[in-house]
Amino acid sequence: MNIPKTSFPRVVIIGGGFAGVALAKKLAKQEAQVVLLDKHNYHTFQPLLYQVSTGGLEPDSIAYPIRKVLQNFPNFYFRLANVEEIDTENERVITNIGDLDFDYLVVASGSVTNYFGNTEIEKNSMAMKTIPQSLNLRSLILENFEDALLTSDLNERNALMNFVIVGGGPTGVELAGALAEIKKGILPKDYPDLDTRMAQIHIIQSGDRILKGMSENASKKAEDFLEKLGVNIWKNVRVTNYDGETVTTNGELLLNAKTVVWAAGVKGETIKGLNSEDFITRGNRMVVNEFNQVKGFDNIFAVGDVACMKTEDFPHGLPMMAQPAIQQGEQLGDNLIKLVENKPMKPFEYTDKGAMATIGRNKAVVDLKKFKFQGVFAWFVWMFVHLFFLIGFRNRMVVFINWVYNYIRFDREARLIIRPFKNRNIE
Ligand SMILES: Cc1cc2nc3c(=O)[nH]c(=O)nc-3n(C[C@H](O)[C@H](O)[C@H](O)COP(=O)(O)OP(=O)(O)OC[C@H]3O[C@@H](n4cnc5c(N)ncnc54)[C@H](O)[C@@H]3O)c2cc1C
Repeated sequence: MNIPKTSFPRVVIIGGGFAGVALAKKLAKQEAQVVLLDKHNYHTFQPLLYQVSTGGLEPDSIAYPIRKVLQNFPNFYFRLANVEEIDTENERVITNIGDLDFDYLVVASGSVTNYFGNTEIEKNSMAMKTIPQSLNLRSLILENFEDALLTSDLNERNALMNFVIVGGGPTGVELAGALAEIKKGILPKDYPDLDTRMAQIHIIQSGDRILKGMSENASKKAEDFLEKLGVNIWKNVRVTNYDGETVTTNGELLLNAKTVVWAAGVKGETIKGLNSEDFITRGNRMVVNEFNQVKGFDNIFAVGDVACMKTEDFPHGLPMMAQPAIQQGEQLGDNLIKLVENKPMKPFEYTDKGAMATIGRNKAVVDLKKFKFQGVFAWFVWMFVHLFFLIGFRNRMVVFINWVYNYIRFDREARLIIRPFKNRNIE
């Protein structure tokens, strides 16, 4: 990997997501050699992926080069590498570009879409976890409209214009809202010769309310917002299969659709060699202690989505969200320095800053610890928070200008089929 040996301890970080970047930024100023490995050369701001899928933002505006985040730190090294295995005995990571020894290892590999073992759904539905996947979805949506225009078969046209989103969490809700706005504001203008009323957006949710991680008020209001936008919400319905044509459920609901987005769950992205049943728990996450140490190891840590830190308030582990990932990354940076200096580490305490979701123009729901609010103000808060956490001044400016433009013009100009959708496996 062409990384020099130094007198500093070597910390290898797998993953340049929220947790990995926060950790690297903390550590890079210290007396440690930091090596960050990621299979992409960019950090992805996943909360805005749905806007890429629906043509509201260009993909580049939510990605940021990892090398740029840390380019001013002499002890920092980035390598574009897929980590294939971890040899815990010899303290070495094995990657597609070679092997590397570590003194300390931090797994910050995030999560992947969880299909709960249904290979048919995995094969036929769309995921939205990475930028390439979002571009796939964007192309598929637009290609389906083009095809709908050409077919004279009414059933076929129906299926092409039916959008089924499985999962009523923030991702499903935000995507449904964006699709509903496309139907209302863009389709009639772009496709005047298509009966755009046929475009139907469905959310299928296995539980009795959408946004079940938020307050009941937020769920209710989000449901109202979506219904006003014309989204069909199916609650207490579980999708059992999708063969590429028909969505089947545990009830009577059957939907013919060419676009099914699976937003019903994620699971930890664990790595071979460090996936023992001793510490892998629910959701394929690695159980860690209050210092983010993986059970059974002193020098191997996990942070972010892949880590399962159980607390009194979160007995099944902290939520798989950006805030726990950032906070764990930062705290582990401080703790690793303490560890090197033989000082006691500080246990991690999660500061819950709340949750939010947007449904569309002027419509969002926000649950903070003390205040819960919905509507226009919530929407501004949602925008401000997302702009604040985006990495890079240029990205913030581009996203802000896009949002202002889209707001004034009721538009989403990135509705482009740059790369026709062919392969679901491009990640
Ligand atoms: C569509 C969507 C919307 C979301 N919206 C919100 C939201 O509104 N608010 C919120 O708080 N959270 C949201 N989340 C969740 C949030 O994005 C995650 O919790 C967060 O990204 C977790 O951070 P992480 O650092 O653990 O992992 P990630 O950010 O996923 O980063 C993991 C990194 O590891 C790399 N990697 C993985 N495996 C390997 C390997 N073997 N070799 C090399 N590199 C590897 C990946 O390329 C990636 O860069 C959303 C997620 C999605 C998918």
